[in-house]
Amino acid sequence: MESLLIHHIGQLAGIRSQSRPLKGNCLSDFLCLENAWMLIREGRIAAFGSMEEDWRAGAHAGVGVHVIAGSMGSPGSDVHTGGSIREIDAGGALVLPAWCDSHTHIVFAGSREQEFVDKIKGVSYAEIAAKGGGILNSARKLADTPEEDLYYMAYARLVECMRMGTGAIEIKSGYGLSTEAELKMLRVIQRLKQNAPIPVRSTFLGAHAFPVAFKNNRDAYIDLVVEEMLPQIQAEGLADYIDVFCEDGFFTQSETERICRAGMERGLIPKIHANQLNRSGGVQAGVAVGALSVDHLETMGPEEIACLQGSTTIATLLPGAAFFLRMGYPPARAMVDAGLTLALASDYNPGSCPSGNMNFVVALACIQMKLTPEEAINAATINGAYAMGVGQEVGSITEGKKANLIFMRPVPSLAYLPYAFGTTHIDRVMINGEFLDY
Ligand SMILES: [Zn+2]
Repeated sequence: MESLLIHHIGQLAGIRSQSRPLKGNCLSDFLCLENAWMLIREGRIAAFGSMEEDWRAGAHAGVGVHVIAGSMGSPGSDVHTGGSIREIDAGGALVLPAWCDSHTHIVFAGSREQEFVDKIKGVSYAEIAAKGGGILNSARKLADTPEEDLYYMAYARLVECMRMGTGAIEIKSGYGLSTEAELKMLRVIQRLKQNAPIPVRSTFLGAHAFPVAFKNNRDAYIDLVVEEMLPQIQAEGLADYIDVFCEDGFFTQSETERICRAGMERGLIPKIHANQLNRSGGVQAGVAVGALSVDHLETMGPEEIACLQGSTTIATLLPGAAFFLRMGYPPARAMVDAGLTLALASDYNPGSCPSGNMNFVVALACIQMKLTPEEAINAATINGAYAMGVGQEVGSITEGKKANLIFMRPVPSLAYLPYAFGTTHIDRVMINGEFLDY
């Protein structure tokens, strides 16, 4: 297989010799190499260094790489693989690890812009939900849509996300709310996992809302999730994670814990929707069951922050949802200062954030939550990767990781990315060492 030597990288950003989630003040640790080269072998980052070194010919001492380059314009050879080396001039591009979007709902059957207009006209979220809108609206549409159609719609959204720089993604079920429809969603995610070139993680969110038929018999729906859905999901190996929408009017703290523990018995790891609308006990439930992440966290008090301190649970913030719903943002600064591990994700879904643009998520985190550009980028890359269990594979410029990279047009500095928030900075996206050609 051909190796790839990229030279004249303006800034190679997000370098880490050791990969681990970044806690508290470490979130600002950010290493950037000016005027760099990078060698990619078999789709992975093999080595990188400064152009000041003798990068093109002979041995790169200290990085354990031996590249024999050909004459200008002709391919060299890679002594490790015996294959040829192709050279690419990055033209001063800023190269970053691709975004790791650890919270999405991209399998859905239709958009909900009518609700969007209703909200502009003053109809409340609760009124829309009472009219059968919201999650139940998506569930109705999904039940009527064939699996094949759902797959193609979701694949198109996945491609849209990759073109905006996403190089790993988590996708949830939760618009099914019946055994048949939840399994249909999870099979769609399974196919995305098999066919997409990026890492995909699958989350079972059967406990997203109570279907109308179970409104007055909540326990019966939870029994259905636990006793009927989960065994089939385990039997078919359809999910990595279990999620619950822990909010007032949805699932309580104790219901959340019960569902998570049932999922854990089936080999699933909890990731929870917590504290978006209320201080619902979602954070406490997540920490009690050892959740990988608790997500949203728009409404946090000192108790919730204290609860997360000393836990290994990642606090995943979704500022696109707060933006779209005109809600207050999570207290990100206080959370970093308290030593928590913060990740950023898009929450791409048809109701509360119809966008998977992680570039905008990073900008919002800086503009509205006062994270520094370095903190926001780390939260959207390395910590996002750990929030979906792919931290050893992607999320940083580290030897051995997948070459899932964003090539940004030359910019004056890293801060220019969130500063010029409406500009498309991305020139090309690389997945597994190859540039996307769609
Ligand atoms: Zn969500």
